[in-house]
Amino acid sequence: MKGKVKWFSADKGYGYLIAEDGTEHYFNVRHIQGSDLPRNGDEVAFESAPGKRGPIAKQVQITGRPQKKQDSNDERVVCKGCGKKMVPRFVYRRGRASWTAHRSYISRSVCPYCATTYQDLDKGCFIATAVYGDAYAEEVIALRRFRDETLLRHRAGSWLVALYYRLSPPLAERLKRMPGTAAWIRRLLDRLAARYQ
Ligand SMILES: [Zn+2]
Repeated sequence: MKGKVKWFSADKGYGYLIAEDGTEHYFNVRHIQGSDLPRNGDEVAFESAPGKRGPIAKQVQITGRPQKKQDSNDERVVCKGCGKKMVPRFVYRRGRASWTAHRSYISRSVCPYCATTYQDLDKGCFIATAVYGDAYAEEVIALRRFRDETLLRHRAGSWLVALYYRLSPPLAERLKRMPGTAAWIRRLLDRLAARYQ
C-alpha cells in the first residue's frame, strides 16, 4: 500500500501514517526499511497488517519527500560535533545486552556527516530497557505506546508515570544485578506489551 507519514518520533520509536484509503496505521522503528528515519509528510510504501489496536504498517519504505521544507515538520537537529543540521541515523549493532542474547539492536543515533553520537538510546527507558536490554525492543516501544495512549490520558495514569520516572533509574540499576527479579518483571511487562503490539 501507499501512504503518507502523519507523524513519527525517533525518541518514542513509533508513529502513524495515513494510507491512501484514509486508514491510520501504527508503525515503529522495527518496521522501517533502511536506516533513514521518516519525516512528517514523507510518502511511503508499506504492507498493511492487522494489529490488536488497529492496523499496523510493516516494511515501511520511504518513497518520496516533499520538496518544500516546512519548519514545523523539520525534525533535523544541530550536530554538536560539526554544527551541521542533520537527521540522526540509527546505528544497529548485534550483540548481547543483559539477558537478551544475540539480538540485533539499536544502540544510538549518530550524525551522518561526522558520526558524532547525537543520542545514546540505551539510557532511555529505565526498567523496561534494563529488563529487555534494548531501548527499541518491540516490547519497550509497545510499553511507550501504552504510556502515551493510555496512562497519560488519565490523571491517575499521569501520576503513575511521574512516579515511575522518579523511582525507576536506581531500580533499573539494581535490576541489572538481579536476573531472577528481572525475569519476573519481564514476564509481567510481556503480557502488558502484547496488548500494544
Ligand atoms: Zn556532525
